[in-house]
Parts: sequence; structure tokens; C-alpha cells
Amino acid sequence: MRVTTFKDKTVAVFGLGASGNATAKALIEGGARVAAWDDSEAGRASAAAAGIPLVDLRIADWSALEALVLAPGVPLTHPEPHWTVTKARAAAVEIIGDVELFFRERRATCPNAPVVAITGTNGKSTTTALIAHILREQGLDVQLGGNIGRAVLTLEPPAENRFYVLELSSFQIDLTPSLEPTVGVLLNVTPDHIDRHGTVEHYASVKAHLVAGAEAAVIGVEDAMTRAIAGRVSGKLYPFAVDANASIAPKIFASGTSICSQDGAIASIAGVRSLRGRHNAQNAAAAITAIRALDDVTAGSHSLWQPARLDAAMKTFPGLPHRLEEIASLGRMLFINDSKATNADSTEKALATWDSGIYWIVGGKPKDGGITTLEAYFPRLAKAYLIGEAADEFAKTLSGKVAFERSGTLEVAIASATKDASMSDAPEAIVLLSPACASYDQFKNFEVRGDTFRHLVAAEIAARARS
Ligand code: ADP
Repeated sequence: MRVTTFKDKTVAVFGLGASGNATAKALIEGGARVAAWDDSEAGRASAAAAGIPLVDLRIADWSALEALVLAPGVPLTHPEPHWTVTKARAAAVEIIGDVELFFRERRATCPNAPVVAITGTNGKSTTTALIAHILREQGLDVQLGGNIGRAVLTLEPPAENRFYVLELSSFQIDLTPSLEPTVGVLLNVTPDHIDRHGTVEHYASVKAHLVAGAEAAVIGVEDAMTRAIAGRVSGKLYPFAVDANASIAPKIFASGTSICSQDGAIASIAGVRSLRGRHNAQNAAAAITAIRALDDVTAGSHSLWQPARLDAAMKTFPGLPHRLEEIASLGRMLFINDSKATNADSTEKALATWDSGIYWIVGGKPKDGGITTLEAYFPRLAKAYLIGEAADEFAKTLSGKVAFERSGTLEVAIASATKDASMSDAPEAIVLLSPACASYDQFKNFEVRGDTFRHLVAAEIAARARS
């Protein structure tokens, strides 16, 4: 994608990861001059190797700059503004992000290109992937990106019949003043990332910005903060909920595994392995409501509202890796990779999915509060296998309530859990990696942890087949 709205202007680009490099290239191709910089030598070197012009912004003349495009990971306000932010403000240079460049380009070249933008504290990636999947199943040209997958400026340029499905984090929204999606989806708001946003009210106001500028606002009305945001929407409002009893009557709601409108069932996620659990019913309801809204705003021109097709699309949704991902089965054993669960809240969703027979691999670098909030689910556990730094703390929490062992490593945990689960006489034995912890003590990130789990489980199953 080219960014033509800064032609012949000089734009500073700070933060030279994948999105920063894509931003610099898109600006250059659109005729802008770029002054790129990064605090890290490695970031600067890789940009220079890609032909991106570096300018030391610490000593540059900021009065010559038209805008500062900041990578979303660079602090704008909290814990304190990055030095580029301070310099830009002093020189009255506007501070924006790559998503802002996308929206300006769309406005300038093809304002009707449909955009669905998704945010929320939890479930963003799943809902984004599901909406993209539904649209693709209808044979449409779908561009999926933002906070998931590809940086937005690496997508194909805006066109009339090209659908953008964009996951946006609050950091990205903060840098996007002209956020004007066709449909804005706000899933939920729970306190998170307060370190970056100061107060929960400010965090909620950032999330509210995504739906405020949307032609149609799709809002999960289950928590007080999203209900308040829904109450302030001036455009078309599409509330959705799990269960129909929210105080704002939802247009679409999940009832068990059925996604319904007031007229009856639209689609079912019963038995859909990629959408297990109540939280995924919320994500499915969000996705279907978004399609409803998109069909209304585009006046039915793409015939998006076809319940039979929506139902079929639910059943073929492949799901995302590392989120309650079923990776293997052996006899009555099911192996589930939930490595993305880096805190107790996420792990709660996993433990709520099965009533009993859970062989739980848990641990890593613990978060404040550890797993104490999960006590109500302990009766569902057959046994816990503790890994990583959290072992001592979690052993204290589990002691006297749940059988556990200190496995230490993922490899030992898998071997023990598989051995124990294979001797279970329950109808289903769930070997679940849902760590409720960050991965950094033993792995590079949660993806590497999940992939390691996948490989070790495959090896364990192969070894059992040989013996
Ligand atoms: P995000 O992109 O917002 O981090 P994901 O779709 O990647 O969300 O899901 C991450 C984790 O968040 C899941 O493993 C699950 O534990 C939890 N989760 C997913 N959807 C929801 C939801 N609608 N409400 C609450 N928690 C959810």
C-alpha cells in the first residue's frame, strides 16, 4: 500500500519493527520524505539494510517535520512519554500511527472500502479471525491485519469491494484520531494495561473511540463500562451479549451454543472445537452481529446476511493456535494447547470448559495474585503439573486442595500428565497446557511455549505408539 497523503512532506517514523519498516516504505512510495529512527542499533541496521533513510531524531530539526509516526509499542503517555513524543509536542508536530495513515489513505482514495475494526480487552484475535473467515467463506476479497498478522500498510490498497478486518489494540487506537470504520466492534472492557493508560477510565475512553467514529457500533453489553459506552453512541448501535438479559436489549445474543436474534437461532457452535467455551460464544455472537451491521450499512449489496452460510462458516472456522487449541487426541485423551493464557483470567476460560478430568500443566513467570482466583475450579482438576518459576507459589495455593507434582519442565510435565491421564477411566481426560503465567522464564514467548508443547506431545504420542 502506498501512503500518498504526505507527498512532498517530511515524516518522522520512530520504532523500526515490522510495522515501522512497512510505514516508512509506504510513505516513500507515496512520495514523502522519511526520517526514520529507532533507539536500538539492531532496529536501525535492519531498516538501513532495507533502504530506509535514517535520521538521528535526537538532534534533528523538528520544525521541518510534518508528523511523527510512532510504533504502537512506544509509550505515548504512560509510564512516561517517550522522548520523541516530548520533542514532537514541543514542535507542535502531530503524533499518529500506521493505522491512521491507512484511514487517511482510504478516505483520500476509496472511502467506501468496507472496514471492520475490532477491539476489546479479550477475544480480539479470535473475533477478528472469525469475521475474516466468515467473509472469505462468502468468496470476498478480505484483508486481515493490524494487531494480528500483517501490519496494516502491508495489505492491498483500498478498493470498492475489498473488505478490511482489522484488530486494533488500545495503543493503536490512541494513535488513530480519524478512526472511521464501517463497523466498529467493542467486545468487552476489563481493567488491563493500566500501566500504559494511567486509569481504567482513560483506557475505556480509548476503546470507546473505536466505536464513536464507526458507521455502526457493535458492542458487547455485558460489563458496566461497555454499557456506558453503548449509551453514548450516536450512530447505529448493535448491542450483543451472552444471554439475552443484558440491561440494553441485545440485537444478537448467545444462548448456550446457539447464536440467536429475537426471531430465533441464526447459527450454532455446538461441537465446534475451535469455539469451545462461553467466552467463544461471546466472540461468535460478536462476529455474527458485525456481519449483520455490515450488511445493513452496505445496504445488502454483498448479500452478507445469509444465516445458513453463517452457520456453515462457524463449523469450518479453523481457530487460532495457542488458544484452547486441540492439537492431538489419543484414546480418550485430548491434548489442548492454551499457551496464550498468560494470566489467571484467561486460564479460567479454559478450566470452565471441562467439568472434570483436567490434567493441568501450569506455571511459568507468575503474575500478581497467581492462581488464587481459580480456586472454584479446583474440583475439576484430576492433577496439576507445575513448571517454571511459579512452582513454589502455586504449590502453596494448591496444597491440600488438589493433587500436584513439581514437574519443573514442560517435557517432564507432559510425560507425567500423559501417563496419569492414560490410566484415567473417565470418558474424557484433558491434558491441558494453560499456564496462567508469562513464558519468559523458560521460553522466548507464548508462541514458542505452545509450539514446544505441540512437538513434545507429538513425540510422546509417537513413543507410545512404538511401545
Ligand atoms: P486477544 O487478541 O484480545 O488477546 P484472543 O482471541 O487471542 O484475545 O484470546 C486470548 C485469550 O483470551 C483466550 O485464550 C481466552 O482465554 C481469552 N478470551 C478469548 N475471548 C474472550 C472473551 N470474549 N472474553 C473473555 N476472555 C476471552
